[in-house]
Amino acid sequence: MTEATALLDLQDVDLRLLRLASSLASLPQQKRLKTIDLARKKVASELSGIVGKRKDAEMEIADLRAALDHYRDKAAEVQAEADASAHTHREIMDFERQLTSLAKHIEKSEFALGPARDRLGRLERAERNARLTSERLEAEREATQSSLDADSRSLRSEIVELSRERGRLAAGISAEHLASYERARKRFGGLAVERLRGNVPSVCRVKLQPSQFHDLAHGDEVTECPYCHRILITSEEGQE
Ligand SMILES: [Zn+2]
Repeated sequence: MTEATALLDLQDVDLRLLRLASSLASLPQQKRLKTIDLARKKVASELSGIVGKRKDAEMEIADLRAALDHYRDKAAEVQAEADASAHTHREIMDFERQLTSLAKHIEKSEFALGPARDRLGRLERAERNARLTSERLEAEREATQSSLDADSRSLRSEIVELSRERGRLAAGISAEHLASYERARKRFGGLAVERLRGNVPSVCRVKLQPSQFHDLAHGDEVTECPYCHRILITSEEGQE
């Protein structure tokens, strides 16, 4: 392989490496993972809010039941006391008054239990849905992550292979030409080497004057384009 061919191949390898690096950075899974993570955070915060309210609702029901038990026990106690022996009219009136008041409390607690149970039911359903969403997102995250791993694995192994290839090619190029290649590569964003096609360089495409063409064609195979200052390979494809 001539130096000219090695330089053109090196440029080709470097351009492929650039494309691979940008593909790696822009794999669609990267963006998808960010979206999933945002959704997971949102669901987790919603879930903790729902769980808090569900616990409040359970506590409210427990309080209402405890109150009901208390009023019922108390009512049974008063009733038993009233039934136990003979009482004066005043005592009977007092028992009646106590029982009426307790009955009102019991009615009020029973009435409050219905809506409290409805509220708890709604919160339990919301909690179940949030947990399902969270599980679904978790599964999606795992699938996306392994798809990202698989895709980036093949890209990374291509990069490793090309880097080895690059080392082999660079070994066949003189230090001087390699240094001008690296300089031109930075300056021209990768496209550092062009080749003559007839009397036109392949990248800048500025037609050479006949005298320039004559000089270049009789000079070194690896030279510099008088117009754009890229490395110019003067042999035609397949000629070297
Ligand atoms: Zn040029």
